[in-house]
Amino acid sequence: MSEILRITGLKSQVNEKEILKGIDLVVNKGEVHVIMGPNGAGKSTLANVIMGSSKYEVTEGSIVFENEDITDEAVNIRAKKGIFLSFQSPQEIPGINIENFLRTAKAQVTGQPVKAIQFKKELVEKMKELDIDRSYAQRYLNMGYSGGEKKKNEILQMKILNPKLAILDETDSGLDVDAVKIVSKGVIDFKSEENAILIITHHNNILDYLNPDVVHIMVDGKIVETGDISLAREIEKNGYIKYREAKGETEWKKEIKLI
Ligand code: ADP
Ligand code: MG
Repeated sequence: MSEILRITGLKSQVNEKEILKGIDLVVNKGEVHVIMGPNGAGKSTLANVIMGSSKYEVTEGSIVFENEDITDEAVNIRAKKGIFLSFQSPQEIPGINIENFLRTAKAQVTGQPVKAIQFKKELVEKMKELDIDRSYAQRYLNMGYSGGEKKKNEILQMKILNPKLAILDETDSGLDVDAVKIVSKGVIDFKSEENAILIITHHNNILDYLNPDVVHIMVDGKIVETGDISLAREIEKNGYIKYREAKGETEWKKEIKLI
């Protein structure tokens, strides 16, 4: 199985606050990885650092993508190499419709002009696969979308850009059952032996539909445990209490009057 992503000893800070405190992660082609963790653990930060957001400073460690060190590469270079990140709170952008947005994105990522007629055909095909109404392509980006529609748009982006590594960062607000199904189906359809998918979530209901190969638990800027789906099931039952205890946090116990 060939390796697609190798993160070693990654530390990152924003506004001089250390958020990632030494991340090691290896993802192989053909794998679906899930990263779970409580709010504020640094999951979205990790996604943004893999994508190369300039907001976050990498202070230590490296990110190797397809055997190439990309730690210092810019976002657009990483996108061209085949890394994709969906946004946690996609912006509402008036004046740009989905079709134009996706066509521009594809031209940027491939570095080739994308012909309008050909693209339209591809778009209609992919929309059909996702059961998206045709009129949707003409709507403005994320204006007045429901949670499920935003998710469909993300999955559509992923399918159009066809990345080698897709990182999906779940919204923190509750995803409804439909949205969970959309994401799961999109991921299952997209998955191949040539790509890999990293899903970041703190909901585990997505795991009812998806069968990830590897599950990581992230707490306080570190991956504290890696395992298979049974790890996620354990979290479902017991939450993150065990990891908090290991850290010596007692405040939460006081809060719920255990001590
Ligand atoms: P998660 O996605 O696991 O909920 P985040 O990566 O969003 O966690 O955030 C991790 C920590 O980093 C939080 O304490 C958050 O407040 C902080 N953080 C994230 N982005 C910024 C930023 N741009 N400026 C300051 N602090 C940030
Ligand atoms: Mg987040």
